[in-house]
Amino acid sequence: MSSNITSKNISFLDEVAATPGGSKIRACIQCGMCSGTCPVANEMEYAPRKIIAMIRADMKDEVLSSNSMWHCVSCYLCYDRCPRGVKPTEIAHALESLAVKYGYRPKGTRNPAMYRSFVNSIKSRGRVHEFGMMLNYYLKTNPLASLKMIPVAFKLLSHKRMPIKPEPAVGTEDLAKITRKFREIRGQS
Ligand code: SF4
Ligand code: SF4
Repeated sequence: MSSNITSKNISFLDEVAATPGGSKIRACIQCGMCSGTCPVANEMEYAPRKIIAMIRADMKDEVLSSNSMWHCVSCYLCYDRCPRGVKPTEIAHALESLAVKYGYRPKGTRNPAMYRSFVNSIKSRGRVHEFGMMLNYYLKTNPLASLKMIPVAFKLLSHKRMPIKPEPAVGTEDLAKITRKFREIRGQS
């Protein structure tokens, strides 16, 4: 995949900085708090701190072809703890969109299972329920791997960052209508 496919010849860094949540990327001081706090950093090819450094070095091809952003589970720990307000979570999601936009495919066979768990969670509850989603994901992929996440789960639960019981969402029906319309427009069943 060519690294010279950035829109309108702007740098990759500028492109990421222009995404919602990406505007503070230049404020990163490479302290490593995000990587140290990320519960799935060991699954990523490049942990959040390194991804930020690579974006700033304009390493578009390496960043977008990596599996890092696809493993983000939106726990927002890095977001909360970043001393510079960089918002690594938003950057991870911006990278997913950019990867799709430029035709990069997620690596690894477990990732589609993650998306399916995510979409099923949204479809049934109207919003993502992280505990149920991760449970579903590990049951469908590698139940034993969930054991090493138990300390992280306890930490998230104790900080009230991951409720066990799904919270009711307002407008679940409206969301279903929007999803149906979107699928119609995209010609999906
Ligand atoms: S926590 Fe914030 S400032 Fe520190 S490395 Fe991560 S993004 Fe950069
Ligand atoms: S929001 Fe994503 S990148 Fe940040 S700590 Fe959680 S899983 Fe890691």
